[in-house]
Amino acid sequence: MKISCEITKDLLPLYHDEVCSNQSRIAVEEHLQECDACKKYLDSINSDFIQDSTAKSSEQAKSNVLKGIKKKLFRKNVMVSVISVICAIAVLLGGFELIFHRQIPIPYEEGLVSVKMRDDGKLLAYFNGDDYYCSYKWNTTIEKDGIKQDVAYIYYTDTIWTRYFSKPQKDKEYKYEINNSSWKDYDNGEGLIEEKKDISAVYYMVYPDMRKMSSNMIKEEVSKDSSKSVLLWKK
Ligand SMILES: [Zn+2]
Repeated sequence: MKISCEITKDLLPLYHDEVCSNQSRIAVEEHLQECDACKKYLDSINSDFIQDSTAKSSEQAKSNVLKGIKKKLFRKNVMVSVISVICAIAVLLGGFELIFHRQIPIPYEEGLVSVKMRDDGKLLAYFNGDDYYCSYKWNTTIEKDGIKQDVAYIYYTDTIWTRYFSKPQKDKEYKYEINNSSWKDYDNGEGLIEEKKDISAVYYMVYPDMRKMSSNMIKEEVSKDSSKSVLLWKK
């Protein structure tokens, strides 16, 4: 069956999509063998289709890439938030540690500490400053004028909090005993036992890293650097 170009062009889209009847298909193919114009028309439909599908697939690819980026960004944001929270906590803890616990030795100044012996022989150190964080004492035996004698070294530390912010508590007396050591006697169950040491002098001396030093190291330091110490009390 011979068909005209007009009818062929009407049929070509159906032919291209393979939805026309068998009879139409045969008629179109017969026409195409003889008509270059309609062949070109079919070619243009084909290439449109290809372009169309390429465009679609590239759009699909673009949106996939975008989805991927969004996903990554989301993960990145979550990571950043988690890390920020951890950092904030670390900074807070570090700041807390720095302000409330990092110890700064208090250098001696006139009247900062006084040492008095009570009637019962107890040596008491009185802190006359506003507030402090911790007090340290250690005893050692030195030889002076050929006589061995026990001396005590004490010093106090501040933190940023006690130095700049805390107010002294009026009802609190900043004092402690120097020449008594107490410990629990678990053998006879009688509780606290006090041992009074015969201290002949008390000095103020700051060793910033004293807590990390062994008693022998301290002894060595004391003997070689006793010029740094300040005499607080003498028998
Ligand atoms: Zn034709």
